Amino acid sequence: MEKPSLVDLAKALVNDEFFYHIHPVVSLETGTIIGGECLLRWRDETGSIHYPGEFIPLAEESGFIVDIGRAMLPKLAAHLRELNSSFPEFFLTVNISQPELESNRFVEDFVSAIQDAGANLANIRVEITERVFFPGYEKTQLAVQRLSDLGVQMLLDDFGVGYSSVEYLSQLPLVALKVAFELVNSIHEQVYNFKVMRHLIGLGHQLGLYIIAEGIESEEGLTLLASSGCTEVQGFLFGKPLPFDEFLRQVQEGRRIWTGYPFGLDYLAQFDHIDLRRDLIREVLVLHTRHDEETRQRSLARLPNIDAHSCLFGKWYYGAGRLRLTNAENYKALGVAHEDFHESCHRLLEAANEGQPLQVLIAIISELSEQSREVMSLA
Ligand code: C2E
Ligand code: MG
Ligand code: MG
Repeated sequence: MEKPSLVDLAKALVNDEFFYHIHPVVSLETGTIIGGECLLRWRDETGSIHYPGEFIPLAEESGFIVDIGRAMLPKLAAHLRELNSSFPEFFLTVNISQPELESNRFVEDFVSAIQDAGANLANIRVEITERVFFPGYEKTQLAVQRLSDLGVQMLLDDFGVGYSSVEYLSQLPLVALKVAFELVNSIHEQVYNFKVMRHLIGLGHQLGLYIIAEGIESEEGLTLLASSGCTEVQGFLFGKPLPFDEFLRQVQEGRRIWTGYPFGLDYLAQFDHIDLRRDLIREVLVLHTRHDEETRQRSLARLPNIDAHSCLFGKWYYGAGRLRLTNAENYKALGVAHEDFHESCHRLLEAANEGQPLQVLIAIISELSEQSREVMSLA
């Protein structure tokens, strides 16, 4: 077929020729599939399949993507319901473009399509692109916020290319960054790409976002990603996007697709603990000088989360670490040392808030340093 026209797309929609292929998302914590991304396909009347690159640009430019997206909602909902009937924790991801989010009643229609089918909104991930952050798209941004408020997980797709700016990241309720294909695909070819990726992953974790890498085609690239603390991957290395039934079959097999060890997560957790100690000590010293209320509020805002379950180390320990650590004896001791460390964090903060003399603070700080070393030696 020549380049499709709007009339071709309209006919395709009337003839119900659009469907999804699902690309498995593999967790680097468990090594298994945990969900999949729905990618639009069009089987024309001759039976040939067309990929988004051939028709999505026209559909987006013309606004026809709104009609296509709407028509796909029942299929998305039905797939999710079927997947969750046996695998209640699994998710499906859908790409939603700016004109769709901007369209009238988008959120209402999206939500009722999922809920009316008996599927769970919390198991839907929506991928948006940086375009939604551009000035003038306030209605779009509101739609993103409303979806998130309703429990839908929002992901930023294609991060790291185009005009991606870290400034955006705090503006919308994102849970994850999906690093652009171009960066991932050549991660093993260029040291520069690898370094950018490693720092993006670290940045994501610092901001409480997890990182998904898509476009992974080589074992070497996968090792680089896993060693950097990437938590989820997608790529032709594990297979191409599949018809829903085949995807479901793979999920049912429950096979461990990746058998490596995600040591990057352990490292990130350990470094984060060192950062946490430094950040706490810094703010305690700021608080100790008892400045005006404004300084105090700024300091409190900079304080790291000192709850034992909320620091990166805690999340790792009670999450991926629990899944992976085989030496149970050591694991328990590590947990105790970690809890002790956090107890001292709380005591230190309390002492600073009470206006205790510097000597008292310094005594707790040295205890804290000792406990931090113990955590590191056990980890
Ligand atoms: P995307 O959301 O960034 O999807 C990733 C694209 O990379 C997909 O192409 C996927 O098949 C491809 N890919 C994933 N891993 C690999 C790999 O290891 N190697 C290679 N060579 N490719 C890989 P696809 O399916 O052609 O989709 C292209 C774009 O079309 C998507 O980019 C997304 O922006 C858009 N799109 C797809 N489905 C929908 C939809 O239902 N609605 C909207 N609005 N946009 C869609
Ligand atoms: Mg996507
Ligand atoms: Mg992408």
